[in-house]
Amino acid sequence: MAWPALAKASPLKRFEYSLPRMGTIFRIVLYAGNATLASEASSEAFERVEQLEQIFSDYREDSELMRVCRTASQSPQRVSPDLFSILQSSQRVSELSDGAFDVTIGPVVRLWREARRQRRLPEAEQLSKAKLAVGYRNVVLDPDDLSVFLKRDHMSLDLGAIAKGYAADQARMVLEKHGIHCALVAAGGDLSIGDPPPGAAGWDVEIRSWTSGSESESQTLQLHNCSTSTSGDKFQFLEVKGKRYSHIIDPNTGLGLTDSASTTVIAPDGTTADALATTLSILSVSRALSLADSLDQVAAFLVRRQGGKFITVRSRRFPPFSEEARHQASLKHPVSAPH
Ligand code: AMP
Ligand code: MG
Repeated sequence: MAWPALAKASPLKRFEYSLPRMGTIFRIVLYAGNATLASEASSEAFERVEQLEQIFSDYREDSELMRVCRTASQSPQRVSPDLFSILQSSQRVSELSDGAFDVTIGPVVRLWREARRQRRLPEAEQLSKAKLAVGYRNVVLDPDDLSVFLKRDHMSLDLGAIAKGYAADQARMVLEKHGIHCALVAAGGDLSIGDPPPGAAGWDVEIRSWTSGSESESQTLQLHNCSTSTSGDKFQFLEVKGKRYSHIIDPNTGLGLTDSASTTVIAPDGTTADALATTLSILSVSRALSLADSLDQVAAFLVRRQGGKFITVRSRRFPPFSEEARHQASLKHPVSAPH
């Protein structure tokens, strides 16, 4: 009897999908053996993101987060494992940054959102009142029954600085469950990155660092099996009297940042990358660098405005951009022009 011919492993093909979710565009790029697997896996990944949006959103009145904000100051509320987990991660980053990162910033963020719409600064009096309801230490998490208690009335939680990184990772985990390891999920500037594309050393990730006038500066990193997030005031800002206020708020002052143009973080997971990109934007350059250097497998690239110019600073582990790596290689192996 002749043996049936061994089926040849089909080569991996590239597939790409995108959908608006969580106030940004979620993009999935993956390599799979066939279109059915690729489309089923990515539909499921998008469903997972939709499920998370219904939990984390502070725009949807019926989200789990909004329900907790309404009720958890009366008594501890049991929450879903996703909400508990992201709140635990948030507390960890708040502690690491001494409160620079703080998801209880909600009441202040709302004032700034309104200020952006109306193109004027928020009233100082309203800001001071809103700040009274801010403070991560007023969130009490009980891991035994996954409950949340808010110690003060009128608190409002805002997961805008951490939820997209979490969701990008979760979406990629769905792809992994389908056996798709070679994939990238981008939630706007928050990327969860798996194995490299076939034959490549990594994914070419374009980091758009800053904008001056109409000029946008971008550089490329080659990455795999990690997450990266870029936070900045490129799209969301309020300009008043020539000063640009970011949508990232320093909880100490209640004001939008003015000196941080963009921060890129590379970290082992998306939740950490997203939360840290926001956090390091707020901290002084020296505190941001020492925090990045103190954390395992974390690297950061900061762009700050200083005296009308941009300065860039990188933490110890930040890899060279591809353009720099090529330049360094050409210095090692100079190509001499033929005589
Ligand atoms: P990102 O783009 O990830 O840096 O997140 C910015 C968003 O996080 C803002 O639009 C706010 O919703 C929220 N946010 C602003 N300031 C803070 C802060 N200090 N800590 C935590 N979340 C913040
Ligand atoms: Mg963030």
